[in-house]
Amino acid sequence: MRYENLYRNLLLGGNNIDGESLGSFDEFISKNIDKLIVKEVSRFFKKEFLLFVGPMFGGKTTRMLSELDRHSYRGRDIYVFKPSVDNRYRDSEIVSHNGGSVAAHVVRNAYEIETLLLKWGVDIAEDSPVIAIDELFMLSGASEVIPRLFRSGATLIASTIQLNSDGNPFQTIMGLMPYATKIEVCSAVCSVCSADAFYTQKMAGRSDFDIEVGGSDLYEPRCFAHFKYFGESL
Ligand SMILES: [Zn+2]
Repeated sequence: MRYENLYRNLLLGGNNIDGESLGSFDEFISKNIDKLIVKEVSRFFKKEFLLFVGPMFGGKTTRMLSELDRHSYRGRDIYVFKPSVDNRYRDSEIVSHNGGSVAAHVVRNAYEIETLLLKWGVDIAEDSPVIAIDELFMLSGASEVIPRLFRSGATLIASTIQLNSDGNPFQTIMGLMPYATKIEVCSAVCSVCSADAFYTQKMAGRSDFDIEVGGSDLYEPRCFAHFKYFGESL
């Protein structure tokens, strides 16, 4: 019955799933059976909202990519986004420190994710897509959009740091944590004493700027004992 409704809707729209002309119902079923099975099975996957948090160099992006691999093996529809840091539209890659990578759409804010999904014809309730976001703390509007996507039926996977260089939590992340079904803290290694590091120490750069993109030239992972807020002597 569900397939008949889908067929009827596609017939009204004049197109098959892949944009080709629609044949008879039987032809439609035999041609698209693989996609339909994935669609059907996807509805029964547990809906998750996974947050991988922690300092820089703690492997949270690597963890996110490995979760995406699992969904990829299941044949799920996967959409990956990362925030634009310079306001340019340029699709890009998310690269983890161990060399893994995945293609990502660059967005300026969380609302653009909804706009793009709509433009691509993604039916969240029907398709149960997996939506992944790297560096979530940089995405304005996320605390409004992410719960909405999750409630609509998407599985969300995101990686993010939690604290700015002043040692204060990002409001966006605090607003999202209550909705997460699982939060995994990915620790790094303290650059001073080699203990587990849960914080990111800003070593240089601007003190008046919450979000400044950099690598080991600007940031070091630190344990709590060796974590100093920006402006304190190191
Ligand atoms: Zn330490």
